[in-house]
Parts: sequence; structure tokens; C-alpha cells
Amino acid sequence: MEGPKSSDHPPKDYRTTCNRDCPDSCAVIATVKDGKIIKHKGDPEHGVTRGFLCSRGNDYLKRFYDPQRLLYPLRRKGNGWERISWGEALDLVAEKLKYYRDAYGPRSVLVVNYSAIHSWIPRVLGRLFWSHFGGATFASGGLSVEAAHAAQQLDFGGDCTHEPEDLVHSKAFVIWGKNVAVTRQHWMPFINQARKAGALLAAIDPVYSEMARKADRFYQIRPGSDGLLAIGVSRLLLERQAVDEGFIADHTHGFEAYRQLVLSYRLEDIAKAVDLSLDQIKEIADWYATRKPLATFTGLGPAYWSNGGAMIRLVDALAAVSGNIGISGGGMSTDIEGAKGLNLSMLRGAPKGQSRRILLPRLGEDILNTKDPALKMGWIAGANPASSAPDTGRVQEGLSSLEFLVVVEQFMSATAELAHLVLPCTTYLEMDDLVTAYGHNWIGLTNRVVPPLGETKTDGEIFQLLAGRLGFGQALAGEPRAWIQKFLEPMAREGLTLERLKEKAYRNPNAASVPFADRKFRTPSGKFEFITQFTPGPIPGNGGLHLVATKTLRMLNSQVLPEDVPEEPIARVNPAVLAEREFSEGQKVWVVSKAGKVRVRLAADEKVRRDVLLLNPALWRGDLNGVNQLRESFLTDIGDGAAMHQTMVTFTAE
Ligand code: SF4
Repeated sequence: MEGPKSSDHPPKDYRTTCNRDCPDSCAVIATVKDGKIIKHKGDPEHGVTRGFLCSRGNDYLKRFYDPQRLLYPLRRKGNGWERISWGEALDLVAEKLKYYRDAYGPRSVLVVNYSAIHSWIPRVLGRLFWSHFGGATFASGGLSVEAAHAAQQLDFGGDCTHEPEDLVHSKAFVIWGKNVAVTRQHWMPFINQARKAGALLAAIDPVYSEMARKADRFYQIRPGSDGLLAIGVSRLLLERQAVDEGFIADHTHGFEAYRQLVLSYRLEDIAKAVDLSLDQIKEIADWYATRKPLATFTGLGPAYWSNGGAMIRLVDALAAVSGNIGISGGGMSTDIEGAKGLNLSMLRGAPKGQSRRILLPRLGEDILNTKDPALKMGWIAGANPASSAPDTGRVQEGLSSLEFLVVVEQFMSATAELAHLVLPCTTYLEMDDLVTAYGHNWIGLTNRVVPPLGETKTDGEIFQLLAGRLGFGQALAGEPRAWIQKFLEPMAREGLTLERLKEKAYRNPNAASVPFADRKFRTPSGKFEFITQFTPGPIPGNGGLHLVATKTLRMLNSQVLPEDVPEEPIARVNPAVLAEREFSEGQKVWVVSKAGKVRVRLAADEKVRRDVLLLNPALWRGDLNGVNQLRESFLTDIGDGAAMHQTMVTFTAE
């Protein structure tokens, strides 16, 4: 009798979680038939992502089954690559690691492990691995809102982001340099619900963003002037005595020095510097004075400057003086601490190695200048610094100077192109792991929906196999489910277990919906700390334009489908800038910065400020280094972040 044909098997649904470098960590349902994923859609059983995915998520199967995905270990051979077995690849890595550790010490190995995968097993096993190795040189700091995190640490003692479910209680939103409609799409339904109930929304941004289009008020300020604007608004609140005196008296520290700082600036000077009218600044002050609870958001706009941390602190202070801290519908939101309460105690007992750090925002320079010992070998996973870090020319020089570079990747990225060995890794559809989010408080699982494609392996398994070769005993051993159970131990006591997470995502029971509702700040003083000193950035002259490239719906940092990579870069400038410089729309020119130059086509756009050059898209065909080849390696004042907006450019004829 003929048995059932494979095609007779009914499709089956599996739950998983998108773990890409995005705040939303969407719950996903993947439908599998005959070993192939045929559908990938949002899971409605999630309190925030509620069954919808972004367009990149909806198209994820194209990326998953892309013929260009890396499926086998590749070793460089001449100008090309040869496929080798995992056994050969891992033996080679182990041999190189031992060699460089013995010859030059563990710090001769550079480790770059950034944020491309938001799952916990590779993070924890990676830290254990390098600790048992004896240490390494870690690329620390980051390319995102590090300055904002550092600012909130100083002011609140932790992050003050409200969970999206609380936004429905807001009466107003003031959004400082954050394109929520693109980068936090799952906050929008909550914001829209509040707006339907009468809340108003203001966007403050040098760029006419998607959020600006949706706003009730848009203030197109001079790039890098958010801090001064926050001072101006605060000055008006102080003059009108429209501040929360009870909160200031009982729960803050440093107010008098902050007040002196604010009063040392004249409103007329501020208006000129931020390029708004006095009436516009008064309008923002009116909102802070009269629309309570008011939710303030900040993002990369103010954070990406060499005084970005101070500018975020000034916006924090505005939220504090207006009495919007610790109340439902208020807050000063950047990123959520979604992993609160996980058991990570296994890291505390790990051996102390001889580690040191260099900075990711100036990676190229730091690799080339690091001595005693110099960097010899590199390990890069969850990161594509040859495209994502500033001054990519220098980054490539630095990475190319290493004697042996290993890159763990899903695709042949700009960084993988520089490697001696590329190890192919899995996606969230081929791995069991735990995922938290930085855009909400929900926890989910990634599940092995299908067996790993080709010979791909999880980042965690790669560390485990190498640990075996390097003699680290049982330190990294264990099935993924056992690791997840360990992470969840404290939450299991509150009913959040692995078994329950298999059914659907759950809200982290340790998370606060409204941070600091008890007014217990985790600062040394136990109070909200006011910033007391500020140096506004210089306003550049000499005809330079501020280089800006914003995030778009189809790109996730350097991750983009081949079909979505545009043919060429387009530089948008104000038509007046074209006329002044006698250039015409459509003309090809060089955009030049101190870091590099890029050939672009000019487009006239009235919505672009006259002091800005908007280079979107940030990546284009045949040049995967994109906009970052123009960006210089400036650092933020605190947090070791990249001051990505600090670069000035000009353009010249071909
Ligand atoms: S990229 Fe972000 S918004 Fe898109 S599906 Fe993944 S988690 Fe959701």
C-alpha cells in the first residue's frame, strides 16, 4: 500500500520571535509544510506587537531563503573563497586563538560583538567564552543611543522609558529627534489611541521625517540645537512659575545650579541659535506647562552629537521641572530595560581575564593604534562595522591589518568580505533562545521552526564547539532549553516559565509600567539629578552642510534585501542651496567630508533645511559601506557612543 506523500502533511504553525536589531521583538507565527516555511506573519497573541510585523518582517522569508545566504564555512583562498567543513573551520579558529594567546597574550585578540541578534544565549556564552579564554580586547561603546543611556543613568539612575501600553494615558507627546513612525512602529497604535482621545503630538527635528508629517506641530530646528531649545523652554517655564515645585523640592538634586544655567541664556539668543521664532518656543513651553501628562521621547537626533549626552540631560530636566516624571502618560522615553530580572549570575563566577577595551565608534583608528600587545586576530559576530561604524575607510584599514579575522554572519557583509574565515550562522527561525526587547516589556522565545539551512549553526553552538577544543570543560555546555530555564529562574518563581513561553510571549513581571512612580531614583543621591553645566556645540560656518541619513522602513542598519538596495545615492538639498552654488537637480557630484567622498546624484527638496544634506538611502548598490564612509569618528560626551551627526560635508563638481 502506498504511504502518504510528503505533500499530504498538513501545514503546521510554530511560534517564534524576531530577534533582529530592532526595539520591537515581534511575536511571529511561521507556517511549515513539508520542511519549508511557507508563511511568516505576526502573532496576535502579543500585547504590543499584536499580530503585525513591519514590512521587513513581512518579507523575511525572502531574506531567509535568499540564495545569497551563507550556508557553509568559507576560507579565503587567493581573491576568492573555498568551502571547508565545520571541523576544519573550528580547528583552524582554535589553533589561531591558542597561537595568538600564547605568543602575544589574550588581549592580542579583538572581539567585536554588537547588537544584530537580540537573544540571550550567544550574549552569555560569548562572555563566558572570552572570560575562559583569559580575556581579550573588546570593542565597547556603541553606534546607537549610548549617550542617552548614560544621560539617563546620571539623571535617574536607570532608564525612564514608559512601556508603550502606558502611552494611551498621555495628553501630549513631544518627540525630540525620534522618527517613531519608522523606528518604533509598534508604539504608534498606542499613540494613535491617545490622539483619538484628544492628545496632541509635536515633532522637533531638523528633518521633515515621517513623524513630522504625522505631527500636529513640527519644529524644524537647527541640527544639534536640541539642548539649547530645552533650555529656552525651561526658562519660559521658570519665568511663568509653571514648574512642579513639589517634585523639585522633594525629589531632585542640583536644581539651583540648573536654574542658574538656564537663566544664563537669553531667549533671543536661543531663538536665533535654534532657528525658531520666540513664539514657537513659547508654544512648546505652553504644552509643557498645560498639557499634563506629557510624554517626552528622545532618540538619535539629539544623542548623536559630541555633546549629545548633555543635550539628552537637558531634555530630561525639562520633563522633570514640568512634573512629568513618575506619572502615567508622562516620562522621558528612549529605550526600555526589557531584560530586568533575568538570572545572569553565571557571568559573575566566570574567571577574570586580562581584558581591555577599545571603542567601536572609532574602531579603525583604535585597531591601528593599539599596542602592547598590538591586535593580531579578530572575532566579529552580530556586527558589520565595515558598514555600520563611522569612517569605514579607516575601519577597513584596521580590520585588514589583522593577521587573522573570523566573521560569524548570515550574508557576505562588507565586514565578512575582509575576513580570512566566515562562519555561517542561523536566524531566529532556526534556533531556540530567549528574546527580550528594548521597545516593550514582553519576553518571547525564538524557536527552531525548521532545521538550520545548509550547515548553519547558532552563535551559541559555535562558542560551545570552540570551548570544547580549547578545553574550557563544562563552562559553556548545555542545551538551549536548559540555558533558557536558567535565565528565567527568578521569573519562574512568579509564574513565567519556559513552558508558558512556549505558548506565547508574556510581559516581564519585573518590569515597571511607569518607571520611578515611587520617586525612588537609583542615583547616588536617591533623587533626580539636574545637569548643571552645558557647552552648546559650535555652529559651523564655511558653507558646510550637516550630513544626515535617517533610518528607512526597508533597511535595518546594514541589513537590506538585494531588491531594496537602490541603484545610487541621492543627496537631497534645499533648492536654494543648488541655486546659490549653481548646481542643478539630477547633476552628479562628489559629497566630500574629512573622512571620505561619495559620488551622488543631487535632488532638490524644499523640506530639507538649507544647512543639511540628506543622504538617503544610507546604502546603495555596489557600495555596501554607504554613508559611513563620510562620517568621521567623533565620540559622544558620555556613554562612548558615536557622534554620527557631527560630520559636515560639502559637494563639488565631478
Ligand atoms: S524588524 Fe522589528 S518591527 Fe520588523 S518584524 Fe522584526 S522586530 Fe518586528
